[in-house]
Amino acid sequence: MDTINCKICGKLFYYQTGAPICTKCTSILDEKFERVKEYLYENPGATMQQVSDVNDVSVQQIRKWVREERLEFTADSIIGVDCEICGTLIKTGRFCKNCKDNLAMKLGKAFNKPIPEEVKNELREQQSAKKFLDNRLK
Ligand SMILES: [Zn+2]
Ligand SMILES: [Zn+2]
Repeated sequence: MDTINCKICGKLFYYQTGAPICTKCTSILDEKFERVKEYLYENPGATMQQVSDVNDVSVQQIRKWVREERLEFTADSIIGVDCEICGTLIKTGRFCKNCKDNLAMKLGKAFNKPIPEEVKNELREQQSAKKFLDNRLK
């Protein structure tokens, strides 16, 4: 087993799998996670900064939970994260529904892996062409 420094408190611990965070910090994070989750349901109007300040969790950490689909912004929430391909605001995960569908067609279901840059570019172009057409129809 390897001993590494915890990413959060810096303490040495035996690293097994998953995030490089010691058990103590993991359980603190889990508690914060539950708090953030509840807070989001009770405060759909809160900004990312408010969620971060009130719950003492970094914006980066909140986005990470959302990307992992552990956390989801409610439908009426004003905040979200950007789709990694086209930049559309989404409530959870890494991609919007359109990009997900396109990716599924292109890569099968394997989009947990990093998406090749050329696939991203191609989809991005498709999406902006679609947006252009949508705007013209309005
Ligand atoms: Zn720690
Ligand atoms: Zn997208």
